[in-house]
Amino acid sequence: MSGGPAACWPFEGAKPGKYGLVQLGAYLVGSTAAFVVAYCLARGLVKAPASGHVIRHLCNNKPCCNPAHLLLGTHQENALDRLAAQRDGSTGPRLVDEPVPPPQGGWIIPSGDMEELERRARASEFWQRVDRSGGEDSCWPWIGRGKHKFGYGQMKWMGIPMTSHRIAYILSNDLAPEDVSRNIHIRHRCPPGGSPNNCNNPKHLLPGTAADNRADCKEDGNMPMGEKHHKGRNFQDALIREIREHYWTAPAEVRPTLTALACRHGVSISTISSWLTGKTRLAAGGPTSRLR
Ligand SMILES: [Zn+2]
Ligand SMILES: [Zn+2]
Repeated sequence: MSGGPAACWPFEGAKPGKYGLVQLGAYLVGSTAAFVVAYCLARGLVKAPASGHVIRHLCNNKPCCNPAHLLLGTHQENALDRLAAQRDGSTGPRLVDEPVPPPQGGWIIPSGDMEELERRARASEFWQRVDRSGGEDSCWPWIGRGKHKFGYGQMKWMGIPMTSHRIAYILSNDLAPEDVSRNIHIRHRCPPGGSPNNCNNPKHLLPGTAADNRADCKEDGNMPMGEKHHKGRNFQDALIREIREHYWTAPAEVRPTLTALACRHGVSISTISSWLTGKTRLAAGGPTSRLR
């Protein structure tokens, strides 16, 4: 893309004369060929053209991903392209006299920046797993397969398993994973009646520290009332068992958030999380994962 909009934009890493490959494309649009992925993304298509159609390179340059050089055609047209090139004795890339005009509203990805393409591809892969049908202000539940033990969505992001709302936050703020330190909680600030355990709407997400989390509870009227009360009992086994039973048997929609639980009992989120999963106080008994 360094050559501008009229030039070829060879896919980085592609061998000369070969199509570039992008593995993610298989999931995204049903093709791993970089130019097919570029064609679809630039036009906002969710699926590669059906068999029977091919995407022609007007520039005769296989690694090229410039959408203005890519035209939908038939296998026959593709064969004719090859014949014409052979007849001319020109086998290499050629100048494109009549680039494909952008569709109405313009190319969705005009720059041909492959890093941007990759980012868009990953983002669209992610958003396909989030149900946004409720509208821009509603909670957006995770519908992907990966589930975190506490009911959040989860998937690998840049090779790292991450909760889906963390990814949603990173994506919507144009950040890299390393921009958001592990010590930063992504807090749910869903409207009343929302489903904060499983929400991925960036409008409902705010970064914060553990202290912010506690402040949220107070703001919500969830004063940490447990402190004195439970300190006396020193968190007896029975209480921990009760917390576990209540948490793991509750239907997902009404299950309290870890933040709410932590505040209610006057302990940190990591303490609550360790109790629930049995990482600590296992001997207290009760379930340590969702009951079937
Ligand atoms: Zn080209
Ligand atoms: Zn929400």
